[in-house]
Amino acid sequence: VSFSVTILGSSGALPALGRYPTSQYIQIGKHHFLIDAGEGAQVQLSRFGGNIHRLDAIFISHLHGDHYLGLMGLLFSMHLNKRQNDLHLYAFKGLREIILLQLKYSKSVLGYTIHFHELKENSTEIVFENDTLTVETIPLLHKIPCNGFLFREKPKPKRINKDKLAANMLIQHIVQLKQGLDVFAESGEILYKNEVFTLPPHPSRTYAFCSDTAYQESMCQQIEGVDLLYHESTFTSEDQVKAIETKHSTAREAALIAKKAGVKKLIIGHFSARYHSPEVLLPEARQTFTETYLAIEGETFHISE
Ligand SMILES: [Zn+2]
Ligand SMILES: [Zn+2]
Repeated sequence: VSFSVTILGSSGALPALGRYPTSQYIQIGKHHFLIDAGEGAQVQLSRFGGNIHRLDAIFISHLHGDHYLGLMGLLFSMHLNKRQNDLHLYAFKGLREIILLQLKYSKSVLGYTIHFHELKENSTEIVFENDTLTVETIPLLHKIPCNGFLFREKPKPKRINKDKLAANMLIQHIVQLKQGLDVFAESGEILYKNEVFTLPPHPSRTYAFCSDTAYQESMCQQIEGVDLLYHESTFTSEDQVKAIETKHSTAREAALIAKKAGVKKLIIGHFSARYHSPEVLLPEARQTFTETYLAIEGETFHISE
């Protein structure tokens, strides 16, 4: 099963130097999600092989324009393309009003239903759940209410060891083995011992998205050991004062969070327009956390099973 994160936008508030503001396309098996929808999100999505029709839900971290100004265009395109499936939208109070107001003045009625889910401030909660995963909020520290999102696969079934299977085994017996059960004959005698025929389940994978935020150590506990962390890194340490002022993080701070939380891999993004190339942020982060990578538009990060 695939688990991937595609960067659609990597820029901070000012889209600069060909960079688009924040948006990410998440694909987990047959489920498709968008996190944030900065200006141009739908253009970037189709450019990099995403499909707006398949989006199950959109998560908006906060209501600064660089995180949602691309949403309305996306919602209209879904309508014009005759989307019928319901869409789930997660955001802080206000987004519903903003969207309904735009629909009102364009006298538009969307051909599909949007379910608005209002996020809570300063607390962690599971806001989304389906058959294979949950999404929980990560409280962040910013100028207005802001949440990150933690995608977590649910525990998986044991795997059948195909080398041990015999040709005459019944499907229902294989299902039982997958469920972790031993299989018994009608006589009560054991037919197949579970541990002989199964391998441990694949580990449940995790992805944490944290933007925008000032340095906040308290998130480390929640994101401990995640496979992949995206943490904003708007500035270098040279602009530490600016970071504090605007409640953003430096590359060093993003890396510190990754290190303290013991994550496997870090992506940094939300680069300030003051840097011509985000490359200048990478060495600073890598000094603290080696496994750091830049959010480059069009790049896909895969978490293997
Ligand atoms: Zn931002
Ligand atoms: Zn912001």
